[in-house]
Amino acid sequence: MHHFSVKTTERNQFVNITPEVEELVRCHGREARAVLVWVPHTTAGVTINENADPSVPADILGYLAELVPPSAKFRHDEGNSDAHIKSSLVGCSVTIPIHRGTMALGTWQGIFFAEFDGPRVRKVQVDFL
Ligand code: ZN
Repeated sequence: MHHFSVKTTERNQFVNITPEVEELVRCHGREARAVLVWVPHTTAGVTINENADPSVPADILGYLAELVPPSAKFRHDEGNSDAHIKSSLVGCSVTIPIHRGTMALGTWQGIFFAEFDGPRVRKVQVDFL
């Protein structure tokens, strides 16, 4: 198992982690069939989406904010239930096939760490299958 840290600077933020995962694939995963990217947090996630136009992650974050606003109706007394719900909606892992030593991401695809309760220093785990 490999891991790296992500330092987020906003409460809600997408951070492109494609270069970090690519580097691990290059160093340790060239013989693997797939790479599993796992986020061991309950108020963050990981997702794959368009990496070319920064409006796309901004729109996803904006939509999630409208979908799950902070609400006094939540029972969890830590006050971050919106972050927990967004984490479950986005998910905490992605699996990417590896073909001929490189990730089979589409032209426009990137891997994003999804922060929903930052700023924090977070951990991303990477396993080769
Ligand atoms: Zn909580």
